[in-house]
Amino acid sequence: MTETLFDKVAIVGLGLIGSSMARGIKKHGLSTTVIGFDGSPDVRARSRELGFCDAIAESAEEAVANARLVVLAVPVGAMEAAAQSVAPHLAEGAIVTDVGSVKAAVVRQVGPVLPDHAVFVPGHPVAGTEYSGPEAGFAELFEGRWYVLTPCERSTAAGIEAVEALWRGLGSTIEQMTPEHHDIVLAMTSHVPHLIAYNIVGTAAELETVTQSEVIKFSAGGFRDFTRIASSDPVMWRDVFLSNKDAVLEVLGRFSEDLAALQRLIRWDDGQALQDRFTRSRAIRHSIIDAGQDTADADFGRPHGHDD
Ligand code: NAP
Repeated sequence: MTETLFDKVAIVGLGLIGSSMARGIKKHGLSTTVIGFDGSPDVRARSRELGFCDAIAESAEEAVANARLVVLAVPVGAMEAAAQSVAPHLAEGAIVTDVGSVKAAVVRQVGPVLPDHAVFVPGHPVAGTEYSGPEAGFAELFEGRWYVLTPCERSTAAGIEAVEALWRGLGSTIEQMTPEHHDIVLAMTSHVPHLIAYNIVGTAAELETVTQSEVIKFSAGGFRDFTRIASSDPVMWRDVFLSNKDAVLEVLGRFSEDLAALQRLIRWDDGQALQDRFTRSRAIRHSIIDAGQDTADADFGRPHGHDD
């Protein structure tokens, strides 16, 4: 058991990330009490049954009363509304943090809504799965994963320290960057790869010359791995693309140019250039395994988490 950091933590939004945080905080004894709240009555009822919080509040007001730390774990497009619902009820000096996959838009939307007596420490756990909802969460989700802290003008040194201590307690390694830099890095490593997966699954679904049953039957040829990513939560990903528009369009522009270059190499039968490019890609895969961000095991349908 690690040190108890807080008397009371409130988590608003009890999906994959919120419920995993609650489970992790309880597992490691990081807070004496964890209170959850979700906008959906059905999610509140299911969360109560699962029992990963000490209590599930019936309102945002009840959840955040006297909480030292308030976590906003709702889709990026709902961050502003969630912040508005907690703002009038925050304790003096409360620390508000969020887990949104996009940072600059959240900083713009949440910061101004919070009262002067509260601090805001935005951040993003780069850990997730393609599942959503309170049943999908587990305490170990953040262990060995990166947590990107993106301080803004509403952050204080004490607030940053408290949020860092929380994520260290959950098993994450912390890196700090600006919200804008976070958004371009994640556009490259997460957002555009998800868009490519959504696109290729869409293409396969509409291809006239190949039947649906053939696509499913022969999916282990590569397609299957895209379908896992493309089964990620539609609401969350809609919000990510709309909120990180500029960075996504920038990376997508580069991607399209590089794809066109590959197309040309195939048309011109330039085997050597193709081989050189694929060799460089393989080296990146090896670097990811060496950095402990994946295993080298062959993936024959085993459970395989991914990071958002
Ligand atoms: P999720 O499983 O869909 O859960 C989000 C929950 O928030 C839903 O139960 C939703 O209820 C509720 N909610 C929406 N608006 C609310 C509001 N104003 N007040 C209270 N509750 C509200 O989502 P998630 O995967 O945990 O993602 C949460 C956040 O973490 C997102 O910002 C996402 O970008 C970020 N994130 C996700 C991953 C990942 O892999 N999933 C990884 C890292 C970070 P309704 O369904 O009724 O709207």
